[in-house]
Amino acid sequence: MDKKTIRDIDVSNKKVLVRCDFNVPQDENGNITDTRRIVGALPTIKYLLDHNAKVILCSHLGRPKGEVKKEFSLAPVQKELSKELGIEVKIADDIVGESAKALTQNMKVGEVVLLENVRFDKREEENDREFSKELASLADIYVNDAFGTAHRAHSSTAGVAEFLPAVSGFLIEKEIKFLGEALNNPVRPFVAILGGKKVSDKISVINNLLEKVDTLIIGGGMAYTFLKAKGLNIGSSICEEDKLDLAKELMKKAEEKNVQLLLPIDVNVAKEFDKDAESKIVDINSIEDGWQGLDIGPETISKYEEVLKNAKTIMWNGPLGVFEFEKFAVGTNKIAEMLGKLDATTVIGGGDSAAAVEKAGLADKMTHISTGGGASLEYLEGKVLPGIDCLENK
Ligand code: AMP
Repeated sequence: MDKKTIRDIDVSNKKVLVRCDFNVPQDENGNITDTRRIVGALPTIKYLLDHNAKVILCSHLGRPKGEVKKEFSLAPVQKELSKELGIEVKIADDIVGESAKALTQNMKVGEVVLLENVRFDKREEENDREFSKELASLADIYVNDAFGTAHRAHSSTAGVAEFLPAVSGFLIEKEIKFLGEALNNPVRPFVAILGGKKVSDKISVINNLLEKVDTLIIGGGMAYTFLKAKGLNIGSSICEEDKLDLAKELMKKAEEKNVQLLLPIDVNVAKEFDKDAESKIVDINSIEDGWQGLDIGPETISKYEEVLKNAKTIMWNGPLGVFEFEKFAVGTNKIAEMLGKLDATTVIGGGDSAAAVEKAGLADKMTHISTGGGASLEYLEGKVLPGIDCLENK
């Protein structure tokens, strides 16, 4: 079901409460080291200002755990926002208290007020109904534009929608469009690439994707549980012994569903888990005891590339090796480069795969990079995200 966006309602003269994701990284002096989340929120804010709204912004920052802690104040965000918007954004000392009420009561069209960190109140994460109501009482309309927290049912991400007309901003609209379309209405062949450390983190994702994709490529640490389940020696590669049966079941399901499931055919094995570890490329049948696979090998890369070059929709979540170590980032980088060159819809899950694509300087070559790691994973699991579910249907 399509969700209403800010384009679908009249915001003129209305106080609009926008839940943003201003959870920005900072250095020890509180300076923002990456402003992308703030810049990302600007289209929604500018649209509202251009359409004569009064804008109230809120977000969490870090984990203050329900207490007011100065180091988690949104004051640095207020400064950056003022700079970016070219107007003075005011900041309240609190979230729903006297300061917030005073600043939002007689707002004029074109004004922007930022509330303090919503997680300064422990009721936020409890999705406390009273707190949601107090937040809602500051505004006439609620807009959710924080995809990164859309999988959490908190007051500012979901609870508040009970009391106000609720629609999405442009960031959430984009996430639903690209993740949703790729997953539910893909142009085929549809190939998913899954990597990362553990099978256990991605069981539901694999299960859901097996219902949708034509090919599932598995790399990264989680591949070794599958390889061991197939009876191969994996040396001291990472493995979840208690998930071997499950891996067998998933491989059986792939067969039943006619999904091609690809595992590495050669790997770069290392003597130890270290960035400078002695390493060598070996065939998947020749991993010796005492060696661990930390990256996919060149033949695997070629095999994956063969499949990817014919794909029309590709979804990628999780690095294909220990990409933090340059020596073992080859597979992840090569696949990122390949995706960047393809004429297919390429959707990158948030978190590590997004970081890998950005690190390789290929972000603008992808169709969509999700802004939410946990949220995009839950989306891929086929779960309903509370922060999206609470919005009005078109
Ligand atoms: P995840 O959080 O599950 O997406 O996993 C990401 C992590 O998996 C990264 O920190 C990678 O270093 C790690 N990883 C990927 N491949 C391997 C591997 N073959 N062995 C150990 N860790 C790996």
